[in-house]
Amino acid sequence: VAKERGGDSIQMYSYELNERGMSLLELENGLRKALEREEFTLVYQPQVDLRTLNIVGVEALIRWCHPERGMISPLDFIPVAEETGLIHSLGEWVLRQACREIGGLRSEGYSIPRVAVNLSGVQFRDAGIVRLVGDVLREQQFPADRMELEITESMAMYKVEQVMEKLEAFKRMGLSLALDDFGTGYSSLGYLHRFPIDTLKIDKSFISTTEHSAIVGAVTAMAESLKMTVLAEGVEKPAQLQTLQELGCDYGQGYLFSKPLTLSELKEVLADHTRYGNISEVSSR
Ligand code: C2E
Ligand code: MG
Ligand code: MG
Ligand code: MG
Repeated sequence: VAKERGGDSIQMYSYELNERGMSLLELENGLRKALEREEFTLVYQPQVDLRTLNIVGVEALIRWCHPERGMISPLDFIPVAEETGLIHSLGEWVLRQACREIGGLRSEGYSIPRVAVNLSGVQFRDAGIVRLVGDVLREQQFPADRMELEITESMAMYKVEQVMEKLEAFKRMGLSLALDDFGTGYSSLGYLHRFPIDTLKIDKSFISTTEHSAIVGAVTAMAESLKMTVLAEGVEKPAQLQTLQELGCDYGQGYLFSKPLTLSELKEVLADHTRYGNISEVSSR
């Protein structure tokens, strides 16, 4: 919610957080200490092939378990981490933790598909981001072709030439690239075909109502001609799944299949999944 408000976001946060009894200063200071205190954790939401309903990947999503305030949403603290520059160490932690945990599952024998990691705008604009990702992958011995980086439309459309260079460098390393929250930013369709993007993630606001199915259909057709795949975010209802299947949308992610899972919950789902071969059976049990 917060990220949609754009410009005066900080004022809005402090207001909102004061309501919750937490000041911006407290949030900032808390964030600083949270990394050392290991208060962050990653949860993983399965991504599903809409034809077979097999799991094709998981998206890593950060959570802050504050000792007194409980769970704090990334929508509340990522913007503050960006403002304070803490996003650099936080983002590095996310990359390393995703490699460590998903790499761990892989070496335990789970046929773990790809892991998708979100990059923040500030993190992506940093001149050292390509090198950082490469260093973490090497350090963790995590195969680059098992990771997808998610950037948002607005990140991609700012200083396009520099963006292009970074995206191409990521592709040379073997990574996949996704454009997150597609449809909510201001993508220039003229640029889109020049970006080496693998996946368009259609924002959940377009999935929630059937009025938008024409848009979803158009994006799916466009993606096909651009040789990109389409993933629908926020699939919650069987009717939405059916519409998406009819429209030829490739992948889906949402509460219908699974909420974001802790690492141990993910293990269980993957174990069951191998047994049943069908996530809808797993999630409806
Ligand atoms: P996002 O990357 O678009 O992630 C999808 C969000 O939709 C997640 O919210 C997920 O929990 C939620 N979601 C999944 N399925 C459904 C559904 O069926 N219905 C609805 N209504 N929502 C669903 P979450 O985890 O709260 O994350 C919010 C945003 O925070 C993310 O949006 C992403 O922009 C940012 N974020 C999360 N983790 C990270 C991170 O590690 N690094 C960075 N830079 N940003 C992150
Ligand atoms: Mg994402
Ligand atoms: Mg998204
Ligand atoms: Mg979204």
